[in-house]
Amino acid sequence: MTRIILLTSGKGGVGKTTIASNLAYALTELGEDVIAVDANLTTPNLGLCMGIPLAQHTLHDVLRRETKLRNAVYMHPYGFKLIPASMSIKDLGGVDVGRLPSVTLSLLGQADYVIMDCSAGLGREATSAIAAADEIILVTNPDLPSVADALKTANLVKKLKKRIIGVVVNRIKRKEYELSKEEIEGLIEAPVIAEIPEDMEVARSIAAKRPVVDYNPNSPAAVEIRRLAHKLTGRPFKYRRPKNFRILERLIGWMT
Ligand code: ADP
Ligand code: MG
Repeated sequence: MTRIILLTSGKGGVGKTTIASNLAYALTELGEDVIAVDANLTTPNLGLCMGIPLAQHTLHDVLRRETKLRNAVYMHPYGFKLIPASMSIKDLGGVDVGRLPSVTLSLLGQADYVIMDCSAGLGREATSAIAAADEIILVTNPDLPSVADALKTANLVKKLKKRIIGVVVNRIKRKEYELSKEEIEGLIEAPVIAEIPEDMEVARSIAAKRPVVDYNPNSPAAVEIRRLAHKLTGRPFKYRRPKNFRILERLIGWMT
């Protein structure tokens, strides 16, 4: 059975693309068949993060009925499939975002997981992406503006009768001014399924055009994304940081 999972948020820049690309890779590492879809049609960058910024056929062409979906499916060197969007503003003309649900429907049976990235906000593009998915993961940062916007998205998801699997809280710095897991769960009324720390390795991995899960699998963010992938598949996650990491962490703990 194919699970179509969308990573969405109210506010932009909270980490949807980062988590979508890493989750696609982490699930592939677990032996799952994955198709990653860049359903962010206005500001796409999933392909960019995955080192495929320019593709001959894109989701835009499919939504414009200019090409068949199978032509826009690329095998990524990391072992999953990618349906990229076009980076060119020109390609937005004539795109029917309302066709997104029928596109994802045609992916049923073609993979274990369809992982969709999308644009922020509550506009038609984001709404169509929600309508195209079965399961929704809300991504937020642990601050009030992100959580307030995530709550709006949660309400839209409920209105569209889609299932929220949970909330991923990203860029946690463990500062006293941040909202806690319990506060976020209370506000959004959904469980927090992953807590991903602020991690410089994420920025480094993006610059290297590699998922952080591959770039540095023991970095704190990579470990939590791998934990999330295990959780989604129902596998236990047994992880013990390498010894040198634990010493480094203790040192950082003393210094901060
Ligand atoms: P969105 O897709 O929601 O707009 P992105 O995934 O593009 O957000 O992330 C926005 C920025 O935040 C990126 O530059 C990325 O490097 C950074 N980022 C995301 N997650 C983390 C993290 N856990 N630690 C540090 N930086 C992060
Ligand atoms: Mg994005």
